[in-house]
Amino acid sequence: MTTIVYPGSFDPLTNGHLDIIERGAKLADRLVIGILKNSSKAPMFTLDERIAIMQASISHLSNVEIISFDGLLVDFMKSQHAKTVIRGLRAVSDFEYELQMAQANRDLYPDMETMFLATKVEYSFISSTIVKEILRYGGNIRHLVPKASIEVIESILGGKK
Ligand code: ADP
Repeated sequence: MTTIVYPGSFDPLTNGHLDIIERGAKLADRLVIGILKNSSKAPMFTLDERIAIMQASISHLSNVEIISFDGLLVDFMKSQHAKTVIRGLRAVSDFEYELQMAQANRDLYPDMETMFLATKVEYSFISSTIVKEILRYGGNIRHLVPKASIEVIESILGGKK
């Protein structure tokens, strides 16, 4: 059985992420979404909120699991019996960091492979950072995040007012 891990902060999940999840799910018997508990970036959504948003958005995918983790990605990979990680690439600007991470991870875990999936053009400008920026100023993010997550996001934000 092949297990692929897709790690990230998902703060919050965007249409760009969901596209990578749907495509990644076709490449593996089991796709594990690794949600980072503590991102170095200050999160807008708590871990539980990020998980709730993710759960609402992936209910149509039967071979996808959500597991949160802390610490080194390579240790999480080993705990999941996974050797392949997928990452999404939006632009050349993502590549420099992603290449460095892939090489650092392989240095720590020589069997590990990083697979890059190129984003769909229509999602290439979408990032969690942009979504958070728009949310902070009350703008419309409905076309940037999965439809199934909108109600969850609105109820979380409603509760924080
Ligand atoms: P991290 O904090 O690890 O960068 P993110 O949640 O920001 O986590 O991103 C997780 C992964 O999703 C990364 O590989 C990132 O490049 C990818 N990604 C982010 N936005 C998009 C998008 N719009 N299209 C495709 N991939 C994306």
